[in-house]
Amino acid sequence: MKVLFATTNPHKFDEIQALLASLPMKLVGLKDLGLQIPEPDETGATLADNARIKAIAYAKASGMHCLADDSGLEVDALGGAPGVRSARYAEFDGPRGERDQKNRERLLFELQRLDDAPRTARLVCTLCLADPEGRILFEGRGASEAEIIDQPRGEYGFGYDALLYLKDLGKTAAELSPEEWNQRSHRAAAARQFAQWFTPYCRAQ
Ligand code: IMP
Repeated sequence: MKVLFATTNPHKFDEIQALLASLPMKLVGLKDLGLQIPEPDETGATLADNARIKAIAYAKASGMHCLADDSGLEVDALGGAPGVRSARYAEFDGPRGERDQKNRERLLFELQRLDDAPRTARLVCTLCLADPEGRILFEGRGASEAEIIDQPRGEYGFGYDALLYLKDLGKTAAELSPEEWNQRSHRAAAARQFAQWFTPYCRAQ
């Protein structure tokens, strides 16, 4: 089966492709399609809502099964923010790398204002698969717990990875190789749920 993984984020594509490599499906990206599909507005109140919006819109527009990912960072001391606003936290409209940097700066600014507040946080990944008619077939969620540190560390990954300190490893997510991060990331946890659902689903087709 061919499944469209609808993301404009090349990091997410590479991660999901590696995580789902053993499944009996071919994952294709938006740029493989040669179609101009307008990006749907992510107007959902939750990450799961936005994953659903993207999966349905791209499935219907492409006529393919479509898997979508919406992810974000929840910081306890900020009441779960930036959450669904993770990509737009700094209100900066520009290239992805610069936007990520501005978002990290805003996060540190907000936390520094709170002095001794706990730094506990988690990255959350929601995945949703829709069929070409726009029916939801699967939804899953994974989380990876971390603490926010004051100085970015590491060169791998994207987004908030360089601020996410994984206490048991003594490293940030951006200091782990993609292979190491794919063992324990929020996306890996959600992808495992998807894999468990997909294999019997495929057999039944
Ligand atoms: P979206 O799911 O593409 O809307 O991404 C939301 C934002 O959350 C991204 O721009 C990143 O800032 C952040 N984010 C999502 N996934 C990750 C991740 O795996 N690592 C670090 N940051 C992430």
